[in-house]
Amino acid sequence: MINKIVFSLAVTVLISTLLGLLFYSKFWIIFALGFILQFLFFYILNTVYENRLIEKAQKLKLEEFREQTKHFVLIECPCTEKVKQDVEVRFDKDIVYKCNKCEKNIRAIPDVKTLLQTDPIYFNNDRTR
Ligand SMILES: [Zn+2]
Repeated sequence: MINKIVFSLAVTVLISTLLGLLFYSKFWIIFALGFILQFLFFYILNTVYENRLIEKAQKLKLEEFREQTKHFVLIECPCTEKVKQDVEVRFDKDIVYKCNKCEKNIRAIPDVKTLLQTDPIYFNNDRTR
């Protein structure tokens, strides 16, 4: 880590010196200007790079979340072939898929049922008796 910092500073000083030597009459002004400009340039470059990495990570996270929320159900095609295939079920838009066998567009309608939930009269521990 420290080696990298020392190396980076040495390169910065070297480039600043070369710039200063190009305009020898105003060496120290050009040297200082070159030194500061290099810091600014790499600060901006690193900020842009960091922001791109953050954006990429957030897109990956969003993609992962999207994949996790997908639900697939095994559906039988209403055609005579009676072929079953996995279809992604979504409630926010119509489910239309193409049958692998008959190659027709099939529309699936999810059906939600309600059941009265009851509490069991025994507990799991009582089963062993
Ligand atoms: Zn079919």
